[in-house]
Amino acid sequence: MPKTDSCISFYLQNAAIRGQFCRISKSITSALVNHSYPNSINRLLAEMTAVSHCLAMNAKSEYQAVMQLTGTAPVRAALVDLYDNGLFRCCASFADKPSSKDISYNTVPEFFGHNAKLLFTMDIKEQRYQTLIELLHSKLEDCFQDYFDQSEQIPSVVMIASKSSDTKVEAASLILHKIPDLTNSNEANDNWETAKIFTQTIKTDELMDLNTDMEKLINLVYNEFSPIVSRETTINFQCKCSEKKFKKTLFQLGISENSLEVICEYCNKKYCIDIECKNS
Ligand SMILES: [Zn+2]
Repeated sequence: MPKTDSCISFYLQNAAIRGQFCRISKSITSALVNHSYPNSINRLLAEMTAVSHCLAMNAKSEYQAVMQLTGTAPVRAALVDLYDNGLFRCCASFADKPSSKDISYNTVPEFFGHNAKLLFTMDIKEQRYQTLIELLHSKLEDCFQDYFDQSEQIPSVVMIASKSSDTKVEAASLILHKIPDLTNSNEANDNWETAKIFTQTIKTDELMDLNTDMEKLINLVYNEFSPIVSRETTINFQCKCSEKKFKKTLFQLGISENSLEVICEYCNKKYCIDIECKNS
């Protein structure tokens, strides 16, 4: 049975091209099941989560990363928090809370209003890498394409897909990068154009088909360039909230009520915090 929640890195042996491919289902369903977001918000968070994991595959050692899409309304912020090799949590906050679960947003302006931005921050050891871009396109896929144009400044192709019902959320993302070629050879350029055409042959259903192994799909599509999967990470939802962390935050905010109920915005877990025990 093919893995359902995984991200792979691969390279094309006979072309100077590398890529990442991520599929999520159980993990993103678990992350969103306790929220009552509209399905279109679930899809937005699922697509962000899949792309974030592809980006994190570039980290060679332990990392923490946050992808943040912000706007005015109805969505004020959509967040994906990644840490410790494949673990993540995600949530959205609203200026105008959607009145119905059926409400459907399709374009970036419909989600975020005007002045929408994407900020991706990655901490690897002591080093922080950060890229901020404006979301200038209607399609999220095109915005991610901008991200790679601006942050990595190498030709890239981005494919994302998702679906969400009341019981199941799924997403997939495939990203292809041309490895910088100092000679700018015709062969490398031709290979890149061919690989782009191969990528365009992948149908959305195939990208998301949980019954087809991810490596098998990569081998099928880029067969001419002999693909090799170099790394695989299993993806799981896990919130890192704790009573101790909430106590510390409340103490830092100077909140001194005897006891307080707080809810984690990522996992919806309720905590009854006794501030008296703030130093424990
Ligand atoms: Zn939590």
